Amino acid sequence: MTEWRSAAARRIMAFADRKTVPSAVVEIARRLTEGQKLPPTDLEAIFPRVDILECHADPDMLTAGELRQAEGGFEIAYNQSESENRQRFTIAHEIAHAVMERTGPHCPRRGRELERICDLIAGQILVPEEALAATVKSPLNLTEISRLARLFKSSLTMTAIRCAQQYRVACAQVEHDEIVWFAGTNNFGLRRPAGQLKKLLAIAEHANDGRTTCTFDLDAEPSSELNVEWRATGNERKLFVLTRHLSLNHGSKVS
Ligand SMILES: [Zn+2]
Repeated sequence: MTEWRSAAARRIMAFADRKTVPSAVVEIARRLTEGQKLPPTDLEAIFPRVDILECHADPDMLTAGELRQAEGGFEIAYNQSESENRQRFTIAHEIAHAVMERTGPHCPRRGRELERICDLIAGQILVPEEALAATVKSPLNLTEISRLARLFKSSLTMTAIRCAQQYRVACAQVEHDEIVWFAGTNNFGLRRPAGQLKKLLAIAEHANDGRTTCTFDLDAEPSSELNVEWRATGNERKLFVLTRHLSLNHGSKVS
């Protein structure tokens, strides 16, 4: 579990004047997108706020993207072989590194928590909390998440993660018959999620997309039925979305 003990975590909380990393992340993205008509987020409009002078594709790039020092500011280089929405995520992630540069001298430039914080800020830049709240419709299921992804020009996966951070939805990714990550399982109090989510592997074995219901053990309620929807998001890769009821009320916000 993340403990947020790194220098990057302390700096971002002080910079945003917030006591927790998640609330600092929301506040920073709010400041960066302030005055914009959302969705989608205009990333270029953010550049002058964080001294980014240039953003360009680099044909020799092996990684997704990079923030580089430039005369009087920074430039972002990104990998053009990625999809457009993936490029937007990369650019938003590098914007977060540029925010870190503004937190004072000798700022952290690498580290596991730093990268997690930059991913969280990128998610909030692309799908800001308030804009999501103003746009989301009930029922919040996979169909609604794909509608939001199109509106916010964010990948389906990133949009599902943002929904799991803000509403009573959980999501998980399966790659090559393995659960590689999950998010939002606390929203249901899913007991020992890593083990229980293995059920998803059998459910989706033969279909690229679909929906069903499945019984899970929740902290408050053993043998509870959850809706399970899934869709292929790549070769041998599927995104799962778990909701409590199909008529899920998006008013049931998680704190
Ligand atoms: Zn990074």
